[in-house]
Amino acid sequence: MDYRGRFAPSPTGPLHAGSLVAALASWLDARAHGGQWLVRIEDVDLPRCPPGTDTLILEQLARCSLVPDEPPSWQSRRSALYEAALARLLAAGQAYGCACTRRQIAARAGPRARNGELVYPGTCRAGTQGREPRAWRLRTDNELLRWTDRRLGPQSQRVEDEVGDFVLLRADGLWAYQLAVVVDDAEQDITDVVRGEDLADNTPRQIRLQAALGLPTPRYLHTPLVLGENGEKLSKQNGAQALDLTDPAAALGRAAEALGLSVSGNTVGDVLASAVLAWPNASWTKA
Ligand code: GLU
Repeated sequence: MDYRGRFAPSPTGPLHAGSLVAALASWLDARAHGGQWLVRIEDVDLPRCPPGTDTLILEQLARCSLVPDEPPSWQSRRSALYEAALARLLAAGQAYGCACTRRQIAARAGPRARNGELVYPGTCRAGTQGREPRAWRLRTDNELLRWTDRRLGPQSQRVEDEVGDFVLLRADGLWAYQLAVVVDDAEQDITDVVRGEDLADNTPRQIRLQAALGLPTPRYLHTPLVLGENGEKLSKQNGAQALDLTDPAAALGRAAEALGLSVSGNTVGDVLASAVLAWPNASWTKA
């Protein structure tokens, strides 16, 4: 089987314990399948990415012997691909310009909000009424999308109803995560997306966008989240500590434990080798 996986960190800060879990899981799944593992730096939101953080993340991965099989890629260098994808969607009538400000969306969206995000009320679907477009959105529909997550099982969503027409190119001129990730996963022939459960909710939007662009849908596996001492998910936004890599083998051991793997060894090589053996028996893996 031609397996290609990836780890796709946003370099808004160095890796923390939670991101190491996602990195390790995607690496282990690639190794267990005899496949390739890629690293893609998701720096489309360049103003939020402090210079040098990309290099730091690659160094942190290297300290853990998580070395990609191909040179890493940077989304900030791939805008031409996103541009071409948006042009195709516009030409096919699948995307449209939107002139609404946040305030206008809030005024019309009413109570239709989800995870703090307003459901776009479709105001500009039929045109911007002579107003200048600010952002570009995908035209969604209410088909019940179904997919199976390798850990979370059968999932479904009606994207139009639950999320609404979502943004592809933002009003500040930056590419939206959804478009960049879908274009890159396809362009890099990714067969398996393994990432933290906090991102699971993006999957239906990505599947919808893949369909609109005629791209294949990879398999998805969302890994358990690492919670901090306060019970909240670890994230750069809520101040998670950068990974302590004074003892990378121990850090990898803790990441493996968060994935429910029992591993042994005192060196990075031994911990990784024992994690590769343990991976196929992870609790969510169906025989
Ligand atoms: N760049 C995203 C993040 O760091 C992950 C994207 C993905 O794995 O699809 O949160």
